[in-house]
Amino acid sequence: MEKILYLAHVESDGTLSKAALESLGAAVELSKKLSGSSLSVGLIGSQAEKAAGSIASCGATSFFAVSGPEFDCSRYSTDAAAIEALGRQTQATLMVAAGTSRFGRAVPGATFRLNGRIDSRITGFTVENNSLQIQRWFYRQRMMSTQTRAQRPWALLLDPGVFSPWTGQTGTASLQNVSVKLPELRTRVLGTETATTGPQTIRPDAKLLFVTGAGWTKKQSDGQPHVKEAEDLIINFLEKTCASLGSTKSLVDQTGDGQQVISLLSHINQVGQTGSTPRHQKGLSTCCHGEEPHTVGWRFINERRAINLDANCGWAQGKADVLYVADAFQVLKKVNELL
Ligand SMILES: Cc1cc2nc3c(=O)[nH]c(=O)nc-3n(C[C@H](O)[C@H](O)[C@H](O)COP(=O)(O)OP(=O)(O)OC[C@H]3O[C@@H](n4cnc5c(N)ncnc54)[C@H](O)[C@@H]3O)c2cc1C
Repeated sequence: MEKILYLAHVESDGTLSKAALESLGAAVELSKKLSGSSLSVGLIGSQAEKAAGSIASCGATSFFAVSGPEFDCSRYSTDAAAIEALGRQTQATLMVAAGTSRFGRAVPGATFRLNGRIDSRITGFTVENNSLQIQRWFYRQRMMSTQTRAQRPWALLLDPGVFSPWTGQTGTASLQNVSVKLPELRTRVLGTETATTGPQTIRPDAKLLFVTGAGWTKKQSDGQPHVKEAEDLIINFLEKTCASLGSTKSLVDQTGDGQQVISLLSHINQVGQTGSTPRHQKGLSTCCHGEEPHTVGWRFINERRAINLDANCGWAQGKADVLYVADAFQVLKKVNELL
């Protein structure tokens, strides 16, 4: 009989992030599929009571919290101590949490202290003969494995953007506080800084991924590059659509090559084998050739379109649903006007 513990860190306003609600959705589904299992909730942060109320009807039999201002920020020592205490309190055999950067740091250490095992980047699960099988991808999303473990507790960090977020009625949950003996705190969190200095261009929740390729900075039909014009078109498009901005490696590498560059791009925008594998409903690639090391990062983009001057570019080789053989400068200008 599995004892499932759903773990979440609470936002400063007492809400749960989208990733946290997605992993709650998965934990609830798992508890329904594993017969004889029980579901508990373990919340971390000073606004735990408000968060517990927001998910009171999720079907959990008990709600626990490690509360207090020192648990509001992401810090290994406090987070690991909180997770360990919640694990011990509930005697959990399965611990389900969102694979946020905060939990990615703290859950492995806490699991080790509980003599458990952990798997991260989980994208799906099935239950066979009342036994849990998880799925995850390997080698930059090229191979998918289905695996299980005998060791308990087993901590599961779920990839954001895969599971449906839990929705339900708010209510009042009877929250039990779990006390934690903290070690001396050597780390003080002074604040957070974003990785980019320009406008926020990476938007994981956007419906559309807009990808820019090196073609935007190449010589065009008049024999000249038009980098400033390209930048204005791209910024204008992003402002109008609120799309997330992705890029090819060739384009972001130009910063280091001393060329004239599109200022709002950095390596964190890079999609592909050595970049990211974002999850958006739709993707539009522009001035990008569609080579395999780039398109492998499109694994989870459902509807794909590309604009390229070259009718034989990689996108035409079965990598896009629609390829517009056209000048992206002209297309984007027109699209911006229409928008
Ligand atoms: C080990 C390894 C890992 C790699 N990892 C990655 C990775 O993670 N991500 C990644 O992106 N790449 C990666 N690459 C590089 C990848 O192989 C390609 O070199 C790169 O993606 C090409 O970028 P691009 O399509 O922007 O540029 P290009 O190949 O130069 O293509 C530019 C395109 O723009 C088009 N174009 C030009 N002007 C216009 C216009 N006006 N309108 C429309 N189209 C126009 C051209 O027709 C051309 O097809 C990796 C390579 C290796 C070897």
